[in-house]
Amino acid sequence: MRIGVLTSGGDAPGMNACIRAVVRAALASGDQVFGIYDGYRGLVEGKLVEFTRKDVSEILNYGGTILGTARLPEFQYEAVRKLAVDQLKKYDIDALVCIGGDGTYTGALRLHEMGIKTIGVPGTIDNDIASSDYTIGFSTALNTACEAIDKLRDTSSSHQRCSIIEVMGRHCGDLALYSGICCGAEYIITNETGLDKEKLLKSLKENRLNGRRHAIVVISENITDVYQLAKEVESYSGYECRATILGYIQRGGNPTPEDRLLAARLGKYAVDLLHEGTSGVAVGVVDNKLKATPIEEALTMVSEPNVELNKLVQKIS
Ligand code: ADP
Repeated sequence: MRIGVLTSGGDAPGMNACIRAVVRAALASGDQVFGIYDGYRGLVEGKLVEFTRKDVSEILNYGGTILGTARLPEFQYEAVRKLAVDQLKKYDIDALVCIGGDGTYTGALRLHEMGIKTIGVPGTIDNDIASSDYTIGFSTALNTACEAIDKLRDTSSSHQRCSIIEVMGRHCGDLALYSGICCGAEYIITNETGLDKEKLLKSLKENRLNGRRHAIVVISENITDVYQLAKEVESYSGYECRATILGYIQRGGNPTPEDRLLAARLGKYAVDLLHEGTSGVAVGVVDNKLKATPIEEALTMVSEPNVELNKLVQKIS
């Protein structure tokens, strides 16, 4: 086969490990592989280069994506996608592996509908793709968030402060929930828990009166203005309070072993599925087993609520 691979949407640590796995697995089967630069934009613009084994050497342990990523909102229009299909025809490429989030999956689904064989691979730090228990990049972002929260704990405890830390996740609370548990946060606020401001302020005040030296609040992005919340905490609870938005630092860094392993497994699985003639599916791991789900279904799936972990938080925070 002649297989193209691209990364699209937000970058995530482990994308390189996945590109490497796709290229190496395909070459080992006698395929030719083309790296497509800058996502769907690069595909439309014809930024395709044939890859050898060596082109993916020394990339496994680096964050980001050697292929680059870009956004092309116009890809929703058939006329623009037709340009992409024309490029693929020009290079005689049979199939595409598209690594990214749900926007990338939608693009892959549309190309599948236009007769191109496509496989979606979940590459996003947000862990917001319900067809896989974990996405490539989540483990590394969790690691980064935990390191940062541990550091903020040191200073917040020394100064007897409350620290509010906003982590990424788009509309998925996993990064906040997991990092909050791992760092012993007193409060974890996500889309699932919601923000009950009155309760939070009262509880912080009680803690302060009971002599607790500091408090850590981990909150998902897109819930509230954390700087404003910090002001309210400060004026109500008696704690000095600082808000920190971790931001883009969570997107970078060398991928953890978990992300490298996931990337290797999913990259090889994507190539295997293409060899079987499968198209229009998203790969993932469910209960630690490889699983392919039609992209259409993957896009409408909703993650199970984190019932067990949310209960755990209530008992041990
Ligand atoms: P992510 O893949 O991380 O969710 P985006 O939402 O930015 O990131 O999507 C990445 C790219 O996927 C977009 O820039 C666009 O090229 C393509 N895409 C997104 N939505 C659609 C759509 N509805 N139809 C076709 N392509 C899409």
